[in-house]
Amino acid sequence: MDKRLGTLIDSYRDEFVAKLQEWIRVPSVKGDPAEGAPFGTEIGRMMKLAMKTAEEMGFSVRAFDGYACDATLGDREDVLGVLGHLDVVPVGDGWERDPFGAEIADGKIYGRGSNDDKGPTLAAMYAMKALKEAGIPLKRSIRLIMGGDEECGWECMRYYSAHAAMPEIGFSPDASFPLINTEKGMLGFELRFPAEKDGLQILQLSTGERTNVIAGESRALLAGGEELAEKVRGYASETGLDYRAEVKAEGVWVTAVGIPGHSAYPEGKRSAIGMMLKLLKALGARGGIAVLADAVGLESDGKSLGCACADAVSGALTNNMGILRLESGAWFATLDFRCPVEADQEQLMEACRAHLPGIEVRVSTRKAPHHVPADSELVSSLLAAYEEESGLKGEAMSTGGGTYAKVLKQGVAFGAVFPGEEELAHLANEYERIDSLMLAMKIYANALVRLAAE
Ligand SMILES: [Zn+2]
Repeated sequence: MDKRLGTLIDSYRDEFVAKLQEWIRVPSVKGDPAEGAPFGTEIGRMMKLAMKTAEEMGFSVRAFDGYACDATLGDREDVLGVLGHLDVVPVGDGWERDPFGAEIADGKIYGRGSNDDKGPTLAAMYAMKALKEAGIPLKRSIRLIMGGDEECGWECMRYYSAHAAMPEIGFSPDASFPLINTEKGMLGFELRFPAEKDGLQILQLSTGERTNVIAGESRALLAGGEELAEKVRGYASETGLDYRAEVKAEGVWVTAVGIPGHSAYPEGKRSAIGMMLKLLKALGARGGIAVLADAVGLESDGKSLGCACADAVSGALTNNMGILRLESGAWFATLDFRCPVEADQEQLMEACRAHLPGIEVRVSTRKAPHHVPADSELVSSLLAAYEEESGLKGEAMSTGGGTYAKVLKQGVAFGAVFPGEEELAHLANEYERIDSLMLAMKIYANALVRLAAE
């Protein structure tokens, strides 16, 4: 990279860290709407702080009624977009430090938002500052767009798109390096079927609240006594899986203990719902439960649903049953498919229905995949910037999750978690290495030069 840029960025370190601390100290979790602050007063306060930071750097700044704001360098008609967000998820349990204290220890800065997404967003803003101070002439303006509702409903980007021209090309520093150019499509199903009068009687079962979570534990109350509990223990030793049974006056409580996770990343996880289905069928459950045990069970690839498929750019389809519950004599369950880019969603819907006889299948979510070719100007420039600054091998990746980048027609996710670093977004004790953020800033500056300099 341009020597001047490198020197400038190194000189920003202390100022950047102090500013990021200021940003982290605003607890910008979504709250009740207030005047000019549709996502609550704290996100409103954060939005103002971000605009002030950008104004101090000399960018032209626009506010979008508390939904979003942007900061622009240059006055070219063609615009390169950079998309970050200022909201954070709620704190959750397990913190050993003040989640909004922005404490620094061992070269790390701790706090909600340090990694998702205030650290990377501010690093991108400082990269723009470096280009500005180095006086690099631009062929494309660079516009940092900061949303206030990424973690909830992306209301921010809908509002922004309705009130401003969304750039066609750009990146979002809200995921991992090297780069994510492929997001699988999504297909969500709701399944309904009546409880069965014959076979094993299931009295209570309610597992899961969200379709995109792999359940870690599932409990059910079954009609029966010690004999049934013995069968459960026998099934546990036969399969080597973690099942427990407890005989109570009201029946047998059985528990299946799996390995929880996000439905888009089933590798190394085990669905407690899938385990429960298998157990219930082994104990004599009939009807829809037996059908699901065979058609879904412990599979996360959709094979027995006739839906297994894969392509070179996005990998294999994944499936998860996130919810299974019995409510007043009827069953409700969900399936969450993350589909390869080239998959025919109509065909998947048909296959799913055909493999679930006796079950009412309704499509509840449908999202098209997003893909920017690996040989495009955008992807090749970003990967070259990454390789040059980090010395690491660049490679375009696919995800089953959703990133902010797909708001842009030609958008990819680019950083800022480096390979081998802990993924701490949304977890307790979220932190970001200061060295990593400084390296990310250099990568972003390098990328901006490649994509926007004359
Ligand atoms: Zn994020």
